[in-house]
Amino acid sequence: MIRVTVYNEYLHEKTNEAVRAVYPNGIHSALREALESETVSVRTVTLDSIEELTETLLAETDVLVWWGHRAHHQVPDEIAERVQRAVLCGMGAIFLHSAHHSKPFKRLMGTTCDLTWRENGDRELVWVCDPAHPIAEGIGRFIKLEAEETYGEPFTIPEPDRTVFLGNFEGGEAFRAGCCFHRGNGRIFYFQPGHETYPTFRNPGVIRVLQNAVRWANPIYRVSSLGSPHVEKPLV
Ligand code: ZN
Repeated sequence: MIRVTVYNEYLHEKTNEAVRAVYPNGIHSALREALESETVSVRTVTLDSIEELTETLLAETDVLVWWGHRAHHQVPDEIAERVQRAVLCGMGAIFLHSAHHSKPFKRLMGTTCDLTWRENGDRELVWVCDPAHPIAEGIGRFIKLEAEETYGEPFTIPEPDRTVFLGNFEGGEAFRAGCCFHRGNGRIFYFQPGHETYPTFRNPGVIRVLQNAVRWANPIYRVSSLGSPHVEKPLV
């Protein structure tokens, strides 16, 4: 069983009619529906209940999925650091859409993670760059999204270990839409689609990517704490 914890700040859905129409029970519920299966269990946490993201919960989480936008600053630094440490120990993490500016993602990247953006509901083609990568399994050549928020380069992240998807927008922009990183023992996937006013998390291609990403990020090796153990004697 892969244990997934989904964090969604859950603010837009409560204050914006257009968002509520798309995600009446919140983006976290849509993500739960997308991911829950016989082999994947999903627990959800929102900003209101963010204190639930304890050391214990993170230790019992194989893959953390993060969606945030308006309230990155309301996530306590202590929790962002806790998430960073859990990833270094081996927990998998998937950062969605505007989570590029979330505290844990920026800590893990070590850069500003800025990008250019435009909200015109452009059609996006999410092109597969690396068809042999496990996260691209079953996708074909591209995913077509009738409307998304446009994100464009330069995306000020460190060079990814693997760029699995490249987004191309109707207005001409290109963006590294699916990027893999390793930090410590942990695997990190950033995926750009998922603006709150569009039904992106109900798109079968996007759901397939998320399911694949959870399997890819599921830890192979994990330690319970960080540190450099001292050894008294040589082994031989
Ligand atoms: Zn957005």
